[in-house]
Amino acid sequence: MSKKIVSLIIPSYNEEENISYCYQEISKFWKKNIKDYNYELVFVDDGSYDNSILEIEKIIAKDKKVKLLEFAKNFGKEIAVTAGINHCQGDSCIVVDADLQYPIETIPEFIKKWEEGFEVVIGVRDKKQTSNFIEKTGSSLFYKIMETVSETRVIPGALDFRLIDRTVIQEFNRFTERNRITRALIDWIGFKQSFVFYKEKSRQHGTASYSFFKRLNLALHAFVSHSMIPLKLAGYLGIFITTTSGLTGLFSLFNQFVINKDQYNLTFSGPFLLGLLNLFLIGIVLICLGLISLYIGSIHIEVTNRPLYILRNKTGFTENKSKK
Ligand code: UDP
Ligand code: MG
Repeated sequence: MSKKIVSLIIPSYNEEENISYCYQEISKFWKKNIKDYNYELVFVDDGSYDNSILEIEKIIAKDKKVKLLEFAKNFGKEIAVTAGINHCQGDSCIVVDADLQYPIETIPEFIKKWEEGFEVVIGVRDKKQTSNFIEKTGSSLFYKIMETVSETRVIPGALDFRLIDRTVIQEFNRFTERNRITRALIDWIGFKQSFVFYKEKSRQHGTASYSFFKRLNLALHAFVSHSMIPLKLAGYLGIFITTTSGLTGLFSLFNQFVINKDQYNLTFSGPFLLGLLNLFLIGIVLICLGLISLYIGSIHIEVTNRPLYILRNKTGFTENKSKK
């Protein structure tokens, strides 16, 4: 029986200094430690403007296991990883950063879990060591909010370092949405999941290309594409404002006409009532916005065009087995 193949997907953007190191480390490690599986290395060059392509081509000339997908421009890591998953040919794939911050020494653990029957093996980072205070609080805030608003479970520290089985790859390939967080989509697909814990290493060469604003942008997209709460917020606010101002208005009328005001000395001035009416109307406008948001929300769901359901297994059907 021929050996199973694991595809290693390496998104890479201006990583000329890291590429040959990364290749050597992986091939050395594999030769020594993982005898029962073959691998392919899929470099996805995300529009680098340094000599990354030359470096990768040099390696390809020597080693048939190495493959290259070259982007016409910089599309961002999420899309690069997607392209890698779309084109890889292994029985499973793992995403590894070109800077080798994900420890490749843990790959055998991923494979072990995979062989135990887990289709998705997620690497969970113990703690980020190199980041500064703002990044740390920012990312923990992000996970807190995501955990509350997201419709799928979000695990802090579960990044792109994960192994997915061919069945998951096939499902993943049906996604058409543009603004995507690859790992959140993999979470959304489901299947049997298991976890491998790891310690992040520091970058070999160069500097991280993910800027603060790129990350912020990604976080905003994550909120928008995995939760409808921001959209519904206007509606909720409207309901709140309308009910509180409406109740106060009712109370002021009640006070004016029913309660003896000399006794309680509660008077509502004209400007106050005007302000109240204003608030009431703003509330109504916001409620209408909320209603419109409901429609936009459902359009959003339609447009992202996610597959309607995911089958983990099929039993009892007569079908060509290789099609799955
Ligand atoms: N990367 C990419 N496209 C980009 C930015 C980054 O493919 O637009 C790759 C990069 O080459 C690296 C990985 O994504 O292999 C992680 O990026 P980086 O190390 O800059 O970010 P961090 O380690 O801080 O997440
Ligand atoms: Mg990095």
